[in-house]
Amino acid sequence: MVKPMVKSVALIVAAGRGHRAGGGLPKQYRQLGDRSVLAHTVQRFLDHKAIASVRIVIHGDDEALYRDAVAAFKDDSRLLSPVHGGAERQDSVRLGLESLIALSPDLILIHDGARPFLSAHQISALIAAFDDENVAGVLPGVAIVDTVKRADDDGRIKETVDRQGLWRAQTPQCFRYDAILKAHTAVSGQALTDDIAVAEAQGLNVRIIEGDPDNIKLTTQADFDQTERHLMETNSTSQSREPLPSFVSKTGMGFDVHGFEPGDFVTLCGIEIPHDKRLAGHSDADVGLHALTDAILGALGAGDIGDHFPPTDEKWRGAPSNIFAEHAAKLVHEAQGQLVHVDLTLICERPKIKPHREAMRASVAKILELPLSSVSVKATTTEKLGFTGRQEGIAAQAIATIELPR
Ligand code: MG
Repeated sequence: MVKPMVKSVALIVAAGRGHRAGGGLPKQYRQLGDRSVLAHTVQRFLDHKAIASVRIVIHGDDEALYRDAVAAFKDDSRLLSPVHGGAERQDSVRLGLESLIALSPDLILIHDGARPFLSAHQISALIAAFDDENVAGVLPGVAIVDTVKRADDDGRIKETVDRQGLWRAQTPQCFRYDAILKAHTAVSGQALTDDIAVAEAQGLNVRIIEGDPDNIKLTTQADFDQTERHLMETNSTSQSREPLPSFVSKTGMGFDVHGFEPGDFVTLCGIEIPHDKRLAGHSDADVGLHALTDAILGALGAGDIGDHFPPTDEKWRGAPSNIFAEHAAKLVHEAQGQLVHVDLTLICERPKIKPHREAMRASVAKILELPLSSVSVKATTTEKLGFTGRQEGIAAQAIATIELPR
C-alpha cells in the first residue's frame, strides 16, 4: 500500500443520547436498512483510501451497542478502539482529539455519527482544501436557497434576513490536528456550537467549501422514514424489507415559455442569474419552475398552473415561483403519493445555463424536498433557430414521475 502523504484521521462523535427520533435507542444505533446508522457512517470513511484511521467517541453506557454496530469491521485495524465521551459534544470531541495524540495525525475530520450519507467526493474535497497551507480548518456548507425570516416567539415576522452569504454548516469539519487540539483545549469550559466555532474563537483561518445536500443529519422520526423509503428504492440488497405498498407510477409533462424584456437578471429554478434582459411575466417568470409545476400537476391529473394560480389574480404579481412548485408537491403528498423524480430542460442561447446548473438542481431539490439524485436539470440551445435562437425568450420542458396509491 502506498503511504499517504498526509495522515488523515476521522473522528466520529457518537456519544449523544439523541432520543428525538423516538424508538428508545440513541439514533446512531438505530437500524437503517440492513445495518445501524453508525455502521453506514463508519463504512463511508473506511471505504476512502485517504483515511488512515477512524476513531469513534461513544457514550460509556453504549459499549454493547457499539460492539454490535461495528461487528462487521472488527478485523479492520484502521478502526481504532472507541473512547468515551464527556457531558457535552464539545467535551467528547476534545477527549477524542486527546486520544489521538500518540497517533499524531496531520488532518482530522470531525463527523457526526448520525450523518450516514457522506460521499467519497466530499471527503476528497475537504482534504484537498488543505493544499493551501494557510488553511487551518474547512467546513462543508450548503448555501441557503430558501428565503430566511426572523420571527418573534409569537410567530410574528420581524424581518427578512438577507440570505446572501448564509450557509448551513455540515460535517465532517476538517482541521489541522495540532491546531484544533490546541483550540479545543483553550476553550474548554466555554459552550460553542461546533468545531468551526472553536476554531474561530481561537482565530484560526477557516474556509467553507461546497457541501452536499444529501449529507443529512438524521434527527427526527420523519428523517428515518424518508431515508428508509430512499434506501428501499436504491438498495436492492437490503434484507429487512417490508413488502412495498401497492403504488402506481404516473408521469406528467410541462412546457412553458417566457419572453425577454429589458432588465438585468433572470430567475431560473429559484436562482437569480445576471443577464442583460429579464423574463416578462406576472410572477417572477421562472420558466423552469413553471414547467416543473405543470409536470407535477400533469402527473396528478390536477389541471395546470393557471388553474391553481390565475394570472388575473393580483396576489401572484411578482410572486416567487417556488410557491407554485411547493403547492404542486403538496398536492402529491395530500394524495398520499410521493414525488419520485423530475427532469427539466431549459432551452435558450443565453444566459449560459451550465455554470448555474448544479445550483439550480440543488434549489429544485430543496423546493421539492427531493434528494439531489432525483432531480435533473439540463440545457440546450436551438442552434440559433426560432424564437429561443433569436434570444427572444426562454422555453422549458419538464417531466415529473410520481407514485400514487393504487
Ligand atoms: Mg409561466
